[in-house]
Amino acid sequence: MQTLKSLLAINSNYIAIALMVLFYSLEQILTTQFKFTKRPQHFFQSVLFQVTFYFVGILWATVTVFTISWLNQKGVGLFYLVQVPLWFKVVMGVLLYDFITYWFHRAAHRIPLIWRLHRVHHIDTSMDASSNFRGHPLEFIWFGISNITAAAIFGLDLFGLSVYFLVATPFFFMEHSNLKFPTWLDKTFGLVFTTPNLHKIHHEQDQHYTDSNYADILILWDKLFGSFKFKPVAEIKLGLKEFDTPKQQTYWYAMISPFVKMKPREIEAAVVPDKKEVAV
Ligand SMILES: [Zn+2]
Ligand SMILES: [Zn+2]
Repeated sequence: MQTLKSLLAINSNYIAIALMVLFYSLEQILTTQFKFTKRPQHFFQSVLFQVTFYFVGILWATVTVFTISWLNQKGVGLFYLVQVPLWFKVVMGVLLYDFITYWFHRAAHRIPLIWRLHRVHHIDTSMDASSNFRGHPLEFIWFGISNITAAAIFGLDLFGLSVYFLVATPFFFMEHSNLKFPTWLDKTFGLVFTTPNLHKIHHEQDQHYTDSNYADILILWDKLFGSFKFKPVAEIKLGLKEFDTPKQQTYWYAMISPFVKMKPREIEAAVVPDKKEVAV
């Protein structure tokens, strides 16, 4: 627990910068999965997202810290009804924050207003680790509410939330990195965890696949709740069909894109993947 506390004492921005440098370098040295188009420009656009992410993050983190502390003071949530060891609460905290985020992410693909914000994360047609930063600042509110909801239902605290982000951040960078990952990783680690190849399926242009594999850490949630789909990574075309012109790939366009009207998305009647799709 002491090691964990020492890790949490590190500024999370330093962790993000270190991971960015690591994956950016690996993407330069190793074989990439997708061909890069205009990498320096792409990276510059991602940095603009990261700067926005930083400032909005401070604002929203203040709201989250205040609200979860207040809920904890009032003893709201299931963990306040039972006595459990700290380690158990920390492990369950990571799983349950991830569980509620899964449902909020899934709802973001279903609710038209939230999709307008969330689709900014899906616009990118040439993804690399810096794509992790790509998201609309207003979307923070949605996923902030997700964390507060998890804390309110289960009685989770800020320590659990910090551990969750400590575990999730390397996943976020790895899942978006433009590196070739072996298929055996999907057949082993991917039975339980979200691998980069499985998250790339979530970034496929075909909506049938965009609306799948929502989990951040545990792909298990998709497998349990019928939203898991599989497509070989070599066949994936990244992005969104309606947003793939060069102008639509810029930071400024992404910022105004929630206000751009697009034809409504189709809502699949039931997410029941066929046998071929689930056979990893
Ligand atoms: Zn999504
Ligand atoms: Zn993503």
